[in-house]
Amino acid sequence: MDARGVEEGPRSQFWLMSMRCCLMAGSVDIAFFFIFHYLGSPILAWVNVASVAMYAVAYFALKRRRNRLAVLLIWLEVLGHSALGTLLVGWHSGFHYYLLMFIPALFAGTRSVRWAGISVFCLWLFYIALSFTMRVVDPIQPIPANALAGLHLFNLTVVFIMFSYLSVYYMMTVKQAHRVLRRMATTDPLTRLFNRRHMIELAARDISGNDRHSPQLAILLMDVDHFKQLNDRFGHDLGDRVLCELSSVIKDAVREKDYVGRWGGEEFLAVLPDSDSSQAGMIAERVRAAVDEFDWSRLGLDTAVTLSIGVSHLVPGESFNECVARADSALYISKDSGRNRVSIASCIELSSKSDYAASSAV
Ligand code: GH3
Ligand code: MG
Ligand code: MG
Repeated sequence: MDARGVEEGPRSQFWLMSMRCCLMAGSVDIAFFFIFHYLGSPILAWVNVASVAMYAVAYFALKRRRNRLAVLLIWLEVLGHSALGTLLVGWHSGFHYYLLMFIPALFAGTRSVRWAGISVFCLWLFYIALSFTMRVVDPIQPIPANALAGLHLFNLTVVFIMFSYLSVYYMMTVKQAHRVLRRMATTDPLTRLFNRRHMIELAARDISGNDRHSPQLAILLMDVDHFKQLNDRFGHDLGDRVLCELSSVIKDAVREKDYVGRWGGEEFLAVLPDSDSSQAGMIAERVRAAVDEFDWSRLGLDTAVTLSIGVSHLVPGESFNECVARADSALYISKDSGRNRVSIASCIELSSKSDYAASSAV
């Protein structure tokens, strides 16, 4: 939510952008009021007073989310102003350029492409009609040639500025949507850790790097012990909070270059680049101990939450899936031998709570 309590998102951003356009257009019309007075064109000067009033009403309508009224006023103003300006001063005044700004706005402001297409077609008809009219009728209130050239330049410049503003807005909207989609595609919504798909992508990137520099890569597969019981005793919501807390404890316990993801329901995976089995075993033990020693009573639990961990190290020619499968086997050994412990793939149990304590302090 923004400061006005308006929901964020591309559509509300669009209306915010429309409010800014109203302010810009209103300011330009105030300038026009003085310009046309100076040029001796009182009708156009007073048309600008009406325009400023319409933009002011449209601005406040947008602020109160009365978008339809605002859009109607903006349309009336731009159509009326462009037509009147052109009829009074001539085609070379450049007032008709403002009509073109509706084209992208129409497509961005409506959910119906069909409706936007019809509106753009009507706009095209209006534009063509205005252009042909000016071929057969003379301007009603012509202004000196120099003033006309200046006015043309002014209108062209304003249209360029407003188009640039609109383009920046459209570009930012697309980029923002892209960022949101990317975040949704790569992260787990509950824990905010990387999701399984993204972990596989990241690991694939590291493994392909392996071929060139042959660094080591190890993984930790972690599973919460007796999590079903915890859910049954304390409820699913508290279970969710435990998963979130676990995520930060695990992230804090691994190194900066390691990356952690949610692999499944209550399973986590950490990929440890540049690590051999013994380094990975030590980091796994650090994670296990950090979780075991965490003060879970803070969340209202009366028992500690513990993790069983399986460690494996990528052997040359092995795929990531095969490496995970070996970590999974090691994890089962940890479970079978009493849980809350670390086992290393190749089926040799590395540690129990007590016998790894010394190495975890290293
Ligand atoms: P073990 O020590 O053998 O791993 O026992 P466990 O109870 O942890 O394993 P089990 O596979 O029997 O149960 C896993 C539980 O995790 C069951 C499921 O309801 C719970 N779970 C999975 N995803 C979520 C989640 O997102 N939130 C919560 N609260 N619970 C979840
Ligand atoms: Mg499990
Ligand atoms: Mg479990």
